[in-house]
Amino acid sequence: MRVDIVSIFPEYFAPLDLSLIGRARANGTLRLAVHDLRGWTHDVHRTVDDTPYGGGPGMVMRPEPWGEALDALAPAELTPPRLLVPSPAGVPFTQAMAHELAAEPHLLFACGRYEGIDQRVLDHAATRMPVTEVSLGDYVLFGGEVAVLVILEAVTRLLPGVLGNAGSLAEESHAHGLLEAPMYTKPATWRGLPVPEVLRSGDHGRIARWRRDEALVRTGRRRPDMLTGLDPQSLDKRDVAA
Ligand code: SAM
Repeated sequence: MRVDIVSIFPEYFAPLDLSLIGRARANGTLRLAVHDLRGWTHDVHRTVDDTPYGGGPGMVMRPEPWGEALDALAPAELTPPRLLVPSPAGVPFTQAMAHELAAEPHLLFACGRYEGIDQRVLDHAATRMPVTEVSLGDYVLFGGEVAVLVILEAVTRLLPGVLGNAGSLAEESHAHGLLEAPMYTKPATWRGLPVPEVLRSGDHGRIARWRRDEALVRTGRRRPDMLTGLDPQSLDKRDVAA
């Protein structure tokens, strides 16, 4: 997968050299480039913002450098990337969207700052590539950089070969509309707290049932909205009892 990120703070992306994302970059699974938006400015101050039309506090990112950046990274003659613009006014980022993005050959991220990017940049881009404004959640960050780090981490771990054990993907929270059951490791008793007996029983059927029950109970307590969204066909009699 190819990924381009445009930001006025390219240094924010230093962590993308670490851990499994760093390895995915090193082995070519992820071809990632970070670009400084100010490289597409032409004045001595390398200006990227200006006051908002209509008045109000804060500054808005000017369209010209963004227009040039998108022209350079998504030239009209090539297959367009999918443009992702982090925004608290975007559609919520979910595991389902992470799967959708992991299937794309080329993602282009535009990191807003200040009060965001002049809307015409997105409207113009939408005439030649798919554009998605995406929100991390119902709160406001300083800029889109942290959102891109989160989205890229969620997407990269879904790329084939990135996780040592791809089986983890099938079992974890949000894979089947539930939160994952609690996990334990050695020692069997720690500070007087034992690991649930069933997990040490070696009885795989009982263990699977226990994990399913715990997942249902945990999801019901913490995220009742997820339980109501479950497909009734995916439930068995024991699920309903739990
Ligand atoms: N004026 C904008 C609004 O009220 O919708 C908020 C701008 S915010 C201060 C600056 C930038 O941070 C945004 O352009 C976006 O890139 C990023 N950002 C802030 N909150 C975000 C969120 N919840 N999800 C994704 N990106 C966010």
